[in-house]
Amino acid sequence: MAATTDVAMTGAGGVPATAGAVLTIDLDAIAANWRLLNAKAAPGSAAGVLKADGYGLGAVPVARALLAAGCRHFFVAHPDEALALRAALPDIEIGVLHGLMPGTAEILRRHRIIPVLNRLAEIEEWAALARAAGERLDAAIHLDTGMNRTGLEPREAERLAASPALLGPLRLRWWISHLATADDPGHPMTAAQAERFRAIVARLPAAPTSLANSSGLFRDAVRGFDLARPGAALYGINPTPEAANPMRPVVRLQARILQVRTVDTPGTVGYGAAHRVGRGAVIATIAAGYADGLKRCLGGIGTVLAGGVEAPVIGRISMDLVTVDVSGVPGAAVEPGRFVELIGPHRSVDAMAADAGTIGYEILTSLGRRYHRVYVGNGPSSGVAP
Ligand SMILES: *Cc1c(COP(=O)(O)O)cnc(C)c1O
Repeated sequence: MAATTDVAMTGAGGVPATAGAVLTIDLDAIAANWRLLNAKAAPGSAAGVLKADGYGLGAVPVARALLAAGCRHFFVAHPDEALALRAALPDIEIGVLHGLMPGTAEILRRHRIIPVLNRLAEIEEWAALARAAGERLDAAIHLDTGMNRTGLEPREAERLAASPALLGPLRLRWWISHLATADDPGHPMTAAQAERFRAIVARLPAAPTSLANSSGLFRDAVRGFDLARPGAALYGINPTPEAANPMRPVVRLQARILQVRTVDTPGTVGYGAAHRVGRGAVIATIAAGYADGLKRCLGGIGTVLAGGVEAPVIGRISMDLVTVDVSGVPGAAVEPGRFVELIGPHRSVDAMAADAGTIGYEILTSLGRRYHRVYVGNGPSSGVAP
């Protein structure tokens, strides 16, 4: 009993006994990942993409770690994300991928945030504001090369090529485009988009170019552009799904055991009575669930690491609970208050994503706000005591 209390109260990182689950984020690994990506981007450089709160891991601490590593360009998606980042880091360069949402131009100007202009009307509005303010405002311009989501349509790019004066007093920092298929090494669209981007840019006023996302940095067809914009790979997601992951893992996810029972009457576990257990099975109930980003479809799929042993997840995932068959785990390792590992050395974010039929991006950005977060800077083995 005393031992359990000690683990609960004094786990490495000072995790409070009241925390049901812990998300450990390795900022050194993020910095190392950025350095690797920045070397791949040479002679250009790599930005850091911090949208969705740094892919769920905390935009501000991630930005600080990247800044210390040498990263000088940061992108978020929403203007609100840019304002939050600006409040914490007054001097960094921030680009907003969503561009000039109506009514936001003056706020972006005041906070020295660089919009990625996605439509001709946004270029005109930003240029008019620059003229009215008597300033040379920074801008990036997104040229759509096949995503059909955001960015100037081909005929808008034609108009801009015919009338470069539309740029007015803007200081054009980058022409940007975004790849649709870079994670698939065999897909012909990546090279086609790179070609299209080169062809459009050649007809427009000269400015640095930015095309690669994480996976794009690993594709031969995406060479010779100035600024790369990696996100996922910074956070340890494999940018080359066809090969071993070149990135360092960043995330460790652990949750406490709440209760352990040995079944004496055969029956079922959890909602829907979906999993049968026999007499003698040992079930541990864990303090995390789909509200914490453990996708509900992972019920009955995958394992957690309990006392160094892989224990299968059984039954449905509840909002706040997961049940695990720990019949094969030595007893002392599965006492209430101890931690099991859901993501970490035994099971990557990408592996959990594959089990859930999704991608690591969705797993990370779904992790939610309920975890006790521990930021560490001393290697991938850190975390809290099991
Ligand atoms: C999200 C995003 C990125 C980063 O992509 P990753 O695949 O996470 O590296 C880069 N550019 C744009 C426009 C994006 O929306």
